[in-house]
Amino acid sequence: MEEESIKIDTVIEKVLSYSPDADVEVLKRAYQFSSQAHFRQKRLEGSPYIGHPLAVASILADMKMDVSTIVAGLLHDTIEDTSTTINDIKDSFGEEIAFLVEALTKLSKMQFTTKEDAQAENFRKMLLAMSEDIRVILIKFADRLHNMKTLRHLPESKKQRIASETIEIYAPLANRLGIGWLKAELEDLGFKILMPELYSDLVRKVAKRKEEQEKYLKEVTEIIEKKMKEEHIPGTVSGRIKHYYGIYQKMKNQEITFEQVHDVLGLRIITDTKANCYAILGIIHSLWTPIPGRFKDYIGVPKSNMYQSLHTTVIGPEGERVEFQIRTSEMHMVAEHGIASHWRYKEKGAVDERSDRYISWLRELIQAQKDLVDAKDFLEAVKGEVTPEVIYVFTPRGEIKELPIGSTPIDFAYSIHTEVGNRCVGAKVNDRIVSLKYTLKNGDTVEIITSLTHWPSRDWLKVVVTQRAKSKIKQWIKTEERKQSMELGIKMLEGEIRKHDLSMSVLKSEAMQDVFKFFNIKSIDDLYASVGFGKLSAHQIINKLMPEKPAEEIPIAKIVKPPKAKRGIIIKGLDNVLYHTAKCCYPIPGDGLVGYITRGKGVTIHRKDCPNLDRIAVDDARLVDVEWKTGGDMTSPVKLFMETIDRPGILATLSAVISSVNINISHIEASSTDDKKAHITFILEVKDKHQLSGLTQKIAQLEGVIRVTR
Ligand code: MN
Repeated sequence: MEEESIKIDTVIEKVLSYSPDADVEVLKRAYQFSSQAHFRQKRLEGSPYIGHPLAVASILADMKMDVSTIVAGLLHDTIEDTSTTINDIKDSFGEEIAFLVEALTKLSKMQFTTKEDAQAENFRKMLLAMSEDIRVILIKFADRLHNMKTLRHLPESKKQRIASETIEIYAPLANRLGIGWLKAELEDLGFKILMPELYSDLVRKVAKRKEEQEKYLKEVTEIIEKKMKEEHIPGTVSGRIKHYYGIYQKMKNQEITFEQVHDVLGLRIITDTKANCYAILGIIHSLWTPIPGRFKDYIGVPKSNMYQSLHTTVIGPEGERVEFQIRTSEMHMVAEHGIASHWRYKEKGAVDERSDRYISWLRELIQAQKDLVDAKDFLEAVKGEVTPEVIYVFTPRGEIKELPIGSTPIDFAYSIHTEVGNRCVGAKVNDRIVSLKYTLKNGDTVEIITSLTHWPSRDWLKVVVTQRAKSKIKQWIKTEERKQSMELGIKMLEGEIRKHDLSMSVLKSEAMQDVFKFFNIKSIDDLYASVGFGKLSAHQIINKLMPEKPAEEIPIAKIVKPPKAKRGIIIKGLDNVLYHTAKCCYPIPGDGLVGYITRGKGVTIHRKDCPNLDRIAVDDARLVDVEWKTGGDMTSPVKLFMETIDRPGILATLSAVISSVNINISHIEASSTDDKKAHITFILEVKDKHQLSGLTQKIAQLEGVIRVTR
């Protein structure tokens, strides 16, 4: 299907239809300007280029945008593709339009799906441009929509890239900004390109179902309309078809077949007032039995993109399911046009309460992105919170909070305030104490218990679902890790500086500037952190600072090892890293070892058979081979657990046996159980596995000992 080319007169007609006083002259001028600039340029399929900006302007006119937006739509590719400059546009059309065109020019240079890093950075720029003037993204949307419709002449790989970018970035954004029609259209266009067979299969199936159900839905419509008339409730009933990508997603997410998707077709009733929405709902529920759990009141509690509607599914005539959406015409406009619906009714620059909510969401997103250094985290953040599946919970004072399904008290705490989140130790739900991992349910009243001596734990990341909580926890951990790295770095540098009979003030000397430059360090704090983190060694720094001095080469491993580590461990391929032995399995010489490179804490050494390893070492690429460096009479801590009969003197006996083989006890913990047994845990300093197994055998033979294990 070739699209028909649009004329400027058509665009002008459209604009005049909703804005009779519009400045027609500037539209004509922009058209001429753009035609001249793009003169002789062709689109890939061979048609004159001007067709594209005209189509974009026409889409914007369909969205009933103001004249400036449409002018910017006509001009949006002039700087990018022609010799026109931003000053030319400023001279001819003024600052406002020049700003829009310039922002769009910057945006058009961005691609989002090639590499995640670049993608996140570009996305941030787009959000920044958007938050300055939301019309930028609306023009970008129109541009993308037209490009998606005319992709067929592009090479396959490029088509795929643009299509997935559209589905992953543009559609969720359109959804978040409340532009329902655009979200659906972008998704279907992308779906068609990415999964052409599935798409055409669905098109066929939907058409067939429509044919089968047309008569039935008409029947239901007549019953409803008659009832509404009797009750003097105005309104129109119309059919509604779920968009193809929506059906596909539902099938995928719920693992069901097309036949099991019940809301492919539904009915939508648009009335005048909120009260009548509920009245119509009452009529429907009195006519047919509603299906429990399917009624949703998005009027009482709107979705976060301000969508409002009542949804219900009933068992209609002949036992068939019918889904209804009931809303006012104003709600319908918001559902379809979102932020765009507000732009067109307001004076330029005026921001009403609703637009304000969209914009504050944007700001929050940009803020979150600042805290998320990891590009992947950021994109997850963007895509994450557009999911509409939400629950509503209450604060103790009765305020309502909207949270994604699966949220925990920690998510709730962070939604109140970062400090509440960082300090939360427990929660009460409906006056009963629950764990922080508790999954909140619709209608719960949640009270957070905080403590000033408490802080976030890494484990929280596994239970929270909101991006806000995730990024705040990550931010806290990052700051904390940096603090620890800095402290460690200072200690290590002090040690190194002392070796050279210098004072710490050398770090503030003029000569340090070269060192900073050489290692690409920005500040002294950065220096401490890099050393503590293990990225640089203190020796490297001091060596760079005074290259003529070091007479003897000091092995790096000796310097960077934390003072506690007495026994050597060789980590293959890495020599200047921090390490510590894991507290879960206490490896000792003789055990098979494996190292896991943690973020910011060097390498953790585990036993190869450590039961925790699978859970901790989620990223195989960070596992490294490790070996003991033999020799010396150093000892390593090991944990030994015993279950014994609980009788007097058992602890003394055990201690005596341990001492008799020259093993030091550094810690004992004992408790008794209800069934007259004792659980005793020792932390012992042993030379190696051999020595330990000798001891274990001795203990196992003692009277009263039931079990002894590491
Ligand atoms: Mn364009």
